[in-house]
Amino acid sequence: MNSEIGDPAGAALERATTLTDDLRLDAVRRWKEAHPGSLAIGILPVYAPRPLLEALGCLAVGVQGGGDQLDIIRGDSYFQSYICHIPRSVVELGLDGGLDPLDGMIFPSTCDVIRNLGGMWRLLFPDRYTAYLDLPQNFDPALGGRFYAGELRRIAGEIHGRGALPLDRDALREAIRRENTRRAALAEMDDMRRREPSRVPASEAYRVARAGSVLSAEEHTALIREYLAGARERRVRAYDNVRVVVLGAFCEQPPVGLIRTLEKAGCDLVDDDFQLGFKTVSGPIPLSREEAGDAGGGALDADDPVDALAIAFLKWGAPTATRYIGADEKGRDLVERVRKVKADGVVFAAASFCDPALLDQPMLEKALDEAGIPHTGFKYSENSAQHQTIREQAGAFSDAVKLWGGAP
Ligand code: SF4
Repeated sequence: MNSEIGDPAGAALERATTLTDDLRLDAVRRWKEAHPGSLAIGILPVYAPRPLLEALGCLAVGVQGGGDQLDIIRGDSYFQSYICHIPRSVVELGLDGGLDPLDGMIFPSTCDVIRNLGGMWRLLFPDRYTAYLDLPQNFDPALGGRFYAGELRRIAGEIHGRGALPLDRDALREAIRRENTRRAALAEMDDMRRREPSRVPASEAYRVARAGSVLSAEEHTALIREYLAGARERRVRAYDNVRVVVLGAFCEQPPVGLIRTLEKAGCDLVDDDFQLGFKTVSGPIPLSREEAGDAGGGALDADDPVDALAIAFLKWGAPTATRYIGADEKGRDLVERVRKVKADGVVFAAASFCDPALLDQPMLEKALDEAGIPHTGFKYSENSAQHQTIREQAGAFSDAVKLWGGAP
């Protein structure tokens, strides 16, 4: 859209595009050459605390499937038909050697598919480190909090056993500071995109955010800032588009072509959950008791940075489909979010057969109906190639919202 020759943000965007499309993890291979002996640890969607890995001297690598660039030859034979696509492409990448630079993988408790993929991975690659991270669904610091902090310490100890640095409080505090800075830069990008969607189109913001999958927090922050500096300099014009929030694409990622399709259909994507791992905890992670206030409930002490990570997840976790909280709370949050970003409507975009997204959707639709907020929805697969039907559907939705203020 804006990446023509002479675009001041062009160089940063080009780098982000290369990194986003880097299925063979060349950036990770280069990082390992530059950091001999250090480990690269893969993280499956949606969320694992990256600062913990950085504190151990590791590179945290977001593994998000093969997108539309990978032919699945062997991956299909490991899973039944009626599940999403991402486990097939992750297995394909693993068998094909694309994930060889990774010394280990963390499978967070996103859903049964990720859990089963973790089991499959352990069988396929018994020599590589594999961890299942059981994220708590009890948000009491004395119960879920202590359990989660214990899980983080266990995983840190195991990765240290594989050759990483030992867990050190000061190193973890520094890593949390760097993560907070990265997230502030991402928030600034979201802010600019909401104010002027044509200056920071969602398809570009997506690439810039996703590039962080293979970068340290510090390098990612630098890339985001470089892109934003360029975007500020652009000459852009505003379009008469509708403002939409896109929801449900938090794990298996839609092809970038699909995001572009929504834009071409007259939608400004002013908020989304595409790269939810960076936003699972909203706001900065506390670094002291003062910053945490009473969020530790007397059971967790934010002066200990592992406890601080647990507090942040418990208390400031985004109300997403992978978090078991009341439907009303999620519905209220979505309505507030739509109003806050001044969106005209919501587009539900869920990966086909994604249980967490599709189970939440009817409850969220009900909350939107009650609030008079128009919405539409479709399903996709990471390797969807034909977007014409979605273009027509999104185009009809944006026209209807513009003309009548509601969905067709
Ligand atoms: S796309 Fe949905 S069902 Fe598939 S692994 Fe991700 S969260 Fe689970």
